[in-house]
Amino acid sequence: MLIPHDTRIALDTVVDLVNTAPESRPPRDGLAGGSEDGLADIAALYAFAERHLISGVGALGEKDLTAVRDVRARFAEVFAAPDPRTAADLVNRLVAAAGTTPQLTDHDGYDWHVHYFAPDASIADHLAADCGMALAFIIVAGEQERLRRCEAPDCGHAFVDLSRNRSRRYCSSRTCGNRLHVAAYRARRKEATG
Ligand SMILES: [Zn+2]
Ligand SMILES: [Zn+2]
Repeated sequence: MLIPHDTRIALDTVVDLVNTAPESRPPRDGLAGGSEDGLADIAALYAFAERHLISGVGALGEKDLTAVRDVRARFAEVFAAPDPRTAADLVNRLVAAAGTTPQLTDHDGYDWHVHYFAPDASIADHLAADCGMALAFIIVAGEQERLRRCEAPDCGHAFVDLSRNRSRRYCSSRTCGNRLHVAAYRARRKEATG
């Protein structure tokens, strides 16, 4: 599946956004998680915007924080959607509410790409429009099932499976994949020796 550069960036952003939600952050291995919200305050929202190079959002306030958390919940629903029609319906509503204005742009040395957020859009509308359209792109490509949740029992991270054969099961092969690998190995050994 060929994914344009900016769509890939928007997908990274939406995955990170969904994974800041407390329900996507189960406690494990001494890492803070569980009830902790990755967007606990305005400072965290600024850090998120900076991490994903979301520019032109201006000064952020409580209203933005609430709105972004709300958009985050809508995106989590898209990742949980059982079929393309459900996902499409959710994306349509999200994007319509954000009021998109597609604009061709080649800012900052990037190749021509489309910004979907309206000029002067709030950060919540910016995320809803750009990330919503990136998810729309995946649905149009017939790849809705690539929007997944990690299968590790104590995880729950959202991820986009961009593997060639759609075989990815874990948010990260380094952490969750490896953890389960080790657990399965130990179980096999125990069976063999026990
Ligand atoms: Zn851009
Ligand atoms: Zn995981």
